[in-house]
Amino acid sequence: MPINFPGGVHPPTKKFTDKKYISELTPAAKVYIPVVQHVGKPAKICVKEGDYVKIGALLASADGAVSANIFSSVSGKVVGIENRPTSNGEVAHIVIDNDFTDQTDFLPRPDNPTREEILKRIADCGIVGMGGAGFPTAAKLDVPKDDKIDTLILNGSECEPYITSDHRIMLEYPEQILKGAKYIAKALNVSNIIIGIEDNKKDAIDALNKIINLKNYSDIKVVSLKTKYPQGAEKQLIYSLTKRVVPACELPSKIGVVVNNVHTALSVYYAVWEGQPLYRRVVTVSGGAVKNKGNYWVRLGTTYKDILSECKATDSLENSKIIQDSIREKQGQLNKLDKSQSAQIKQLKSEIKNLTKELDNIKSAQCVMIVNGGPMMGEAAKSNEEAVTATTSSVLFLTQQEINNISPSQCINCGKCAVVCPMKLMPMFIDLACIAGDWADAKKYGAVDCILCGCCSYICPAKRDLVSSMKKSKRMIAKRGI
Ligand code: SF4
Ligand code: SF4
Repeated sequence: MPINFPGGVHPPTKKFTDKKYISELTPAAKVYIPVVQHVGKPAKICVKEGDYVKIGALLASADGAVSANIFSSVSGKVVGIENRPTSNGEVAHIVIDNDFTDQTDFLPRPDNPTREEILKRIADCGIVGMGGAGFPTAAKLDVPKDDKIDTLILNGSECEPYITSDHRIMLEYPEQILKGAKYIAKALNVSNIIIGIEDNKKDAIDALNKIINLKNYSDIKVVSLKTKYPQGAEKQLIYSLTKRVVPACELPSKIGVVVNNVHTALSVYYAVWEGQPLYRRVVTVSGGAVKNKGNYWVRLGTTYKDILSECKATDSLENSKIIQDSIREKQGQLNKLDKSQSAQIKQLKSEIKNLTKELDNIKSAQCVMIVNGGPMMGEAAKSNEEAVTATTSSVLFLTQQEINNISPSQCINCGKCAVVCPMKLMPMFIDLACIAGDWADAKKYGAVDCILCGCCSYICPAKRDLVSSMKKSKRMIAKRGI
């Protein structure tokens, strides 16, 4: 019986890039590094215009325990500090002109580091949750004294459509991920590590098990999970793997568990073993509007515009022009033929039809939306000037056909949203409460417990934007202190 959780949906996986080896995206000439790439307070800028920085140089330092250090991802000169758009509003960015010498400013490797040294290194290197949450890892591992942790879970489920960055790192960096997991386990003082991976990534399960057997890592177990969205959501993953339930408004540490993403474990390995601060990450670049889809090591601070320029747009105007010229040429030839030349007429008409179809496809491959993350939980970018951060697992360049084009209609009381809700909420009632502005009712139906997974919106036959209602309800309940 596959390991599972209640509710959930099965959206088309669209993992177009799961066979694409990770390669290095050519670094951009200029990077724009935001001082907020994490949950918590913005980091305090500690460089100024004109400073020369190397890869790994500290640009902004953590402001308190729930904050994170921010580092340079290129070597070059700081040319400005600007407020720029992010999906969470305007944020200060440090702008650096890349001199392409790739000089580094890394830390020395500690000999057999103690628990305290590992925690310090993780904090010093600015490691944050890289599955999308962005919670500073050092703060997460510094669990409340009363919480007795017995299990570290590594999240390798990667249940969102399109995204394959975690899948590829498990295939290509299994040993490093396991070493990173061991550092985290040492920091937590636990000896039970479970790695949860969906059963559509059997090759990743095999790759990790191979190293576990080779190294005789008896404290690490890989568990195959049913492929179902949102298998990778923290509470659902914990339930699937341990059958423990995280109480409402509590952290997993309350029930003895800490969860980290596999990419976070990889970054912990690089921080401790290689002395590398967090300056790059693996990003899946996909969607119908991008030609060279793939998994890339991307320097933090690279704009979506630069990614698309490097990976090439599918809707190249050049291609359209070539095809339009060809159609015109064939149309001219067709006009010159008389009725007796039926075979040639047929041939030309067929060619024009095919070219027109191709042209339509190119037009429809235009990018109409850029999404940071997956289509279920990701954030639509406000501009292609936004930049990759520590939590950007993928950048999707989506076409009109790939986004929801249907206007919402009235709820038909089918109850499907409640059936698929992994938190067992009543999304249709929260939606109604939100429309009525009745925040007490929204709370009564569980808006606070919503994990914003999007299953309800996905399944709704009336195409109601239930997630927006959930977000608004959560915001208003917090604002009004209800
Ligand atoms: S109500 Fe929240 S938790 Fe439930 S399906 Fe909708 S988004 Fe997911
Ligand atoms: S799935 Fe949509 S139509 Fe059905 S009950 Fe929920 S909100 Fe209403």
